[in-house]
Amino acid sequence: MYIQGKAKEQNTFDAIVVGSGVSGGWAAKELTEKGLKVLMLERGYNVEHITGYKDAMKESWDFPHRGRVDKKAAEEYWAVKRTGYAANEENRGFFVKDTEHPYKEKRRFDWIRGYNTGGRSKMWGRQSYRWNKRDFTANLEEGVGTDWPIRYEDLAPWYDYVERFAGISGYKEGFDVLPDGMFQPGMEMNCVEKHFKQGMEANFPGRHVTIGRVAHLTQPTAEQTALGRSACQFRNKCIRGCPYGAYFSTQSATLPAAMKTENLTLLTDKIVYQVIYDDELGKATGVKAIDQNTKEETEYFAKIIFLNASAINSAWVMMQSTSSRHPNGLGNASDQLGRNIMDHHLDSGASGWVEGFSDQYYYGNRPNGIYIPRFTNWGTDKRDFLRGFGYQGGASRSKGVEVEQTFGAEFKESLSEPGIWRIGIGGFGETLPDPSNRMTLTDEKDQWGLPVIEFDAWWGDNEQKMRVAMRDEAVAMLEAAGFKDVRGHKNEDKSPGIGIHEMGTARMGTEEGNSVLNKNNQVWGAENVFVTDGAAMVSSSCVNPSLTYMALTARAAAFAVDEMKKGNL
Ligand SMILES: Cc1cc2nc3c(=O)[nH]c(=O)nc-3n(C[C@H](O)[C@H](O)[C@H](O)COP(=O)(O)OP(=O)(O)OC[C@H]3O[C@@H](n4cnc5c(N)ncnc54)[C@H](O)[C@@H]3O)c2cc1C
Ligand code: SF4
Repeated sequence: MYIQGKAKEQNTFDAIVVGSGVSGGWAAKELTEKGLKVLMLERGYNVEHITGYKDAMKESWDFPHRGRVDKKAAEEYWAVKRTGYAANEENRGFFVKDTEHPYKEKRRFDWIRGYNTGGRSKMWGRQSYRWNKRDFTANLEEGVGTDWPIRYEDLAPWYDYVERFAGISGYKEGFDVLPDGMFQPGMEMNCVEKHFKQGMEANFPGRHVTIGRVAHLTQPTAEQTALGRSACQFRNKCIRGCPYGAYFSTQSATLPAAMKTENLTLLTDKIVYQVIYDDELGKATGVKAIDQNTKEETEYFAKIIFLNASAINSAWVMMQSTSSRHPNGLGNASDQLGRNIMDHHLDSGASGWVEGFSDQYYYGNRPNGIYIPRFTNWGTDKRDFLRGFGYQGGASRSKGVEVEQTFGAEFKESLSEPGIWRIGIGGFGETLPDPSNRMTLTDEKDQWGLPVIEFDAWWGDNEQKMRVAMRDEAVAMLEAAGFKDVRGHKNEDKSPGIGIHEMGTARMGTEEGNSVLNKNNQVWGAENVFVTDGAAMVSSSCVNPSLTYMALTARAAAFAVDEMKKGNL
């Protein structure tokens, strides 16, 4: 149903934000705080903060299958299951049922989604790192993909800004490869992680171990407390939603801030599938959406539109937004829309155990691990591949001392004792942009009559070579630090998407001929449309990307409001 007259007035706002995840939450917060009346359209069902986290306080034994993946769930969550953890009964709460939201794979692509308020901001791992200066210049220096139209210095004040609000805990280290931020106190490494740090750094000058930088409050500010957030309780059940608001999510942070302004309208169950573009005006006037329950179609209007549906879904909306000016999809004169899909490749690393430390333990379930910043192709290090990888990992005590039996009283007794200390580290590797790694729309339709996506992406030679180094360097570092039975792994049963860091489908660039977005995240030829999720990324760095989406979104929102005030949009 399309609306006119008074109803059109009711559906008209200053700004529309599509998607309520990490980046959409930031767009809504920034735009409402600057006085704009904002409509946020979310395709999934509503999840209220605290009361919506139904499994947050449960233990494994509270679940009918004790937390396991049952046969039905394995079928319904066929892509989510590929993570190895997110389809189980304890964790799958906010993930999509893949059977309800189908997609196709020319080559396997693990598309892990959360369609409900807050998007994946509720399930993310909260690892939050700044990109470094060279992350923004490497494409230009090495002749890969296209150049970023911005540099680290353009984003640095926005990193400061989003870190202060979101609350990132970590240690200031002074590494140029991993710039410091506005940190709350870092979590503590346990004794074996400290032992590894000491042993590894002594053997490999220039390599470092630090605690993971995570979006968890360890010393909440007055602003955070006023939003109802409190310090982390070290329970590590974060993926089910945090009733303490201790980690950054849309629900805990950006949504309450936006709601406080009384300028936000949130409508859930609205699948946006098209940006309405007026060829005469030369700009977008609104969006079309379909209600996921009633299938009613509605148009919403605004002066500016922020697409924050996540990298793949924002590109999907843009591909369906054709007009005379944009015959191949919004901003797609360069034919780069839907191409250059990047995702960090992982599951290559090593593990081992260490003697001693049997009189030491740790308190609680720290929701974090250790981090080893990139060292390849950095300084004097040179490799037969470009760029590099960082490692995430951690040490813990296994359950149960070694006994011969696997049944009986002695075995049962042994399980109540802490066992040996083990450590594991796994790499997160940078992926290069490649236009042949892409998503397209097929003729197949979903239950709403909307086109189903097909993925065709794989890792190239550079990534394959890097994966070997990821394993071998991990083995070398654990062995040098004195760990026993060190085993390397390089799991081949993984495919793009599994890093859950999809990027690059509507990249920024220096001109319309090489990109979809300009240096302010505006769509070329539709300058009142902004895309500030992972779609905008021009390269992928090797660090987790969401902090950069936050900074890009806050920067673009400030620019958009400024331009509106000047009458330019
Ligand atoms: C298990 C897990 C661990 C992760 N760990 C980390 C980590 O440690 N560090 C890190 O940086 N990142 C991590 N990520 C990735 C991180 O969650 C994403 O980078 C981030 O959420 C992306 O933000 P976004 O706003 O682009 O998309 P999302 O957070 O996915 O939000 C998109 C929203 O848009 C909605 N939407 C989609 N299509 C439409 C449409 N057509 N109309 C209306 N609404 C729509 C969705 O329902 C969703 O709510 C992890 C992700 C997962 C799942
Ligand atoms: S570990 Fe901290 S952030 Fe995670 S659910 Fe518990 S209190 Fe919340």
